[in-house]
Amino acid sequence: MVVKQPRAEPTDEALKTALSQLDAAADRLHLDDGLRDMLRTPKRELSVHFPVHMDDGTIRIFHGYRVHHNLARGPAKGGLRYHPQVSLEEVRALAMWMTWKCAVVNLPYGGAKGGVVVDPKDLSLRELERLTRRYATEISIIIGENEDVPAPDLGTDPQVMAWIMDTISMHRGHTAAGVVTGKPVSVGGTLGRLEATGRGILYVTQEVARRYGVALEGATVAVQGFGNVGAVAAHLLSQAGARVVAVSDRTGGLYNPNGLRIEQLLSYRKDRAPLTTGPGGDRITNDELLTLDVDFLIPAALENQITARNAPRVRARYIIEGANGPTTPEADAILNENGVVVVPDILANAGGVIVSYFEWVQDLQFYFWEEAEVNERLHKVITRAYRDVAATAEEHGISLREAAMVLAVGRVVEATRIRGIYP
Ligand code: NAD
Repeated sequence: MVVKQPRAEPTDEALKTALSQLDAAADRLHLDDGLRDMLRTPKRELSVHFPVHMDDGTIRIFHGYRVHHNLARGPAKGGLRYHPQVSLEEVRALAMWMTWKCAVVNLPYGGAKGGVVVDPKDLSLRELERLTRRYATEISIIIGENEDVPAPDLGTDPQVMAWIMDTISMHRGHTAAGVVTGKPVSVGGTLGRLEATGRGILYVTQEVARRYGVALEGATVAVQGFGNVGAVAAHLLSQAGARVVAVSDRTGGLYNPNGLRIEQLLSYRKDRAPLTTGPGGDRITNDELLTLDVDFLIPAALENQITARNAPRVRARYIIEGANGPTTPEADAILNENGVVVVPDILANAGGVIVSYFEWVQDLQFYFWEEAEVNERLHKVITRAYRDVAATAEEHGISLREAAMVLAVGRVVEATRIRGIYP
């Protein structure tokens, strides 16, 4: 007799969402319970509790995690988050999303994520370095070029990646550049990484425009968030001839129906001045930006921005999700109903992980590419992924978000079946 193991129900919202998305895709793929349980469960989880000497001479214990969700398609890949709200369940959800993100753009990676419960703003630079080197040492038993390749996420940056690379290199006695990505170019990083996510959004938007017969030249665009993702996307889209009519940051936004001058705003922002006092447009709120009558809306700030509250008022024809999780499931249903085409985050913002993959490939070969080559290959990979997802959506008569999940989960299942269950 087969006895089913009881499932522990998650309490974390991100993990609940991740599991319900997986269940929906598993239903469409008619997966049996065994495979479903395999995909619901991370392969490996490491919890570490480690001491760090603080500048005042005291010792503080920090708590961190590294989770490998699924390795059927290759080494694990995923970011490392320093944030006070990090929890094991949240890291599990993020690791699972990385599995799907890598699979949907067809990178030979599984999904992973890591985190340390800390607000990096509370630490001095030296404390941050000691914490990073000790955490890297603690998780060194499961990371490596062939095992798991971390990258930056919330609260971590290229400097943190350089410290991790150096720590692992010191242990091994030789430079191990391929152990993390998102490093500075001077220590094995790749050209084009900083702009990669915004550039991926440009390429996806171009592809959507082509598919739906919209001329990008003169098309109207609103971008929420003017950081690494949003500002690069706004800049590249305006260079491509689109009319970026609105941009925003946490203080609010600027609107000009004739188009904003993005280069002028970029140089205005160099000294971190709030966008709302910038030149060339009228002030609007973030809520007004999200409901502007535009061709393309690019939420590139935070999660949960398009909700059941404002979704009925969204007038954009196409939404390209730059941020992770900017649309709630309830809002997604409303947008679907209203015929708004949404390109989901795991596809639209995959430019970053795609170029991280290129960084790893270059590190393994000790051979570095020109920026034009990086961009050209990014274009090829993300455009093909968009076309795969669009074809799956058409075939099943489902949304691009559902199609991205069906495609991604289907690829992981195929790899699992072909490899077989060991022993
Ligand atoms: P960032 O910190 O560089 O920029 C975030 C921007 O959002 C800033 O302009 C900030 O002012 C703005 N913002 C913050 N709170 C806001 C609010 N309440 N309303 C409107 N704007 C607000 O971050 P980023 O790297 O550009 O990341 C943005 C999003 O994209 C995040 O969801 C991130 O997880 C996701 N993402 C980033 C990358 C990457 O390569 N950087 C890759 C994939 C996904």
